[in-house]
Amino acid sequence: MPLEERLARLRSELPKGVTLVVVSKYQSDEAVQRVYDAGQRDFGENHVQSLVRRAEQYPKDARWHMVGHLQRNKVRQLLPHVWMVHSLDSLRLAEELNRECVKLERRLRCLVQVHIAQEEGKYGFGEEEVRALFREGAFARFERLDVVGLMGMATFTQDEAQVRGEFTRLRALRDWVVAGGFAPSPEFRELSMGMSDDYLLALAEGSTMLRVGRGLFAEP
Ligand SMILES: *Cc1c(COP(=O)(O)O)cnc(C)c1O
Repeated sequence: MPLEERLARLRSELPKGVTLVVVSKYQSDEAVQRVYDAGQRDFGENHVQSLVRRAEQYPKDARWHMVGHLQRNKVRQLLPHVWMVHSLDSLRLAEELNRECVKLERRLRCLVQVHIAQEEGKYGFGEEEVRALFREGAFARFERLDVVGLMGMATFTQDEAQVRGEFTRLRALRDWVVAGGFAPSPEFRELSMGMSDDYLLALAEGSTMLRVGRGLFAEP
């Protein structure tokens, strides 16, 4: 099945209000161009350098999402090109993003990354830590950041119940933030969860943003 057809099929599976972010990391320029030509406008990258390179190649209607861990010393390079940062994983990073937004006189949409997987070594705030931070309004203090939701990556496992349970917890956390009146932005609702191998489970748990790479580009 050609790439364009796989993209169309994936799109047809999305409920209303769900954004597909096509993760273009490691893909050829030719393949990414075909996806753009098929009408896709939201793209994700996990390295600053590749995001900047691609953003410079594409018309301004393409929206570039930073989905990988972001080092503070790369913020300046990234900011002119990025539409949304999915990987806000420390307050020091938030400070740096905010400072650079002030300089550029822009705002930036961000998602707070929460560590929901069992594996060590994935980035993100712990659940309890993030509850405490929302409770004390920590994310609302950055005047240039619009913190519009949460992002999480599930454990890499075949155990669907495990993965689904982790997505449930992320959604519950989002609902807790909203119900408690702790939402840092009136638009706080996004749940960025679901990749190639688990996006159907993520959709079933209320994902609003899928980040799909390999599963779209690779021939099944
Ligand atoms: C690579 C990556 C994805 C996409 O993963 P696939 O398995 O290729 O769909 C999604 N999110 C993040 C943070 C990634 O680094």
